[in-house]
Amino acid sequence: MKTIPRECSICNAPIEIHHDDWCAGHNAWPINNSRCCDGCNTHVVIPFRLALMNDAKIGKTLVEEDGRIKKEIVDEYISSGC
Ligand SMILES: [Zn+2]
Repeated sequence: MKTIPRECSICNAPIEIHHDDWCAGHNAWPINNSRCCDGCNTHVVIPFRLALMNDAKIGKTLVEEDGRIKKEIVDEYISSGC
């Protein structure tokens, strides 16, 4: 079995290996600048991305000055079971 070189930056789970060389996960923006696993991409990253795209006003209340989603909002969202 291959070693898994990366962990999800959101839930800390090992990032899935999809095929031989692809194990870098997904872009975790706007949660953070790192990578994330399949589950977090589907259940956390994409919903936040859509929220930001769909409503700029709500989006502004969700993000830090650098454009990332505020950590406490992400934590709350995850702890509520996504
Ligand atoms: Zn994850």
